[in-house]
Amino acid sequence: MSKKSNLFAEIIRKAKMVDGVCPHCTEHTLLISVVSDYYRCLNCGGDIEQKINGKISYLPIDLTVQEIKDGKEI
Ligand SMILES: [Zn+2]
Repeated sequence: MSKKSNLFAEIIRKAKMVDGVCPHCTEHTLLISVVSDYYRCLNCGGDIEQKINGKISYLPIDLTVQEIKDGKEI
């Protein structure tokens, strides 16, 4: 096994994959964590910021302010 494949395996092991509804394409799809608290939709490639606000929800990064409508903006 080469070092390169070990590194790749390490990245995959650290990456978190969750399923959820993407706010960009509104599809129920897989979201992969590329950086802490940021997810990318595997369907449309849209970036999503994870907000923990009593519950976990996924917000599109460029629509974060608009999406928070319950007055509990962090
Ligand atoms: Zn999407």
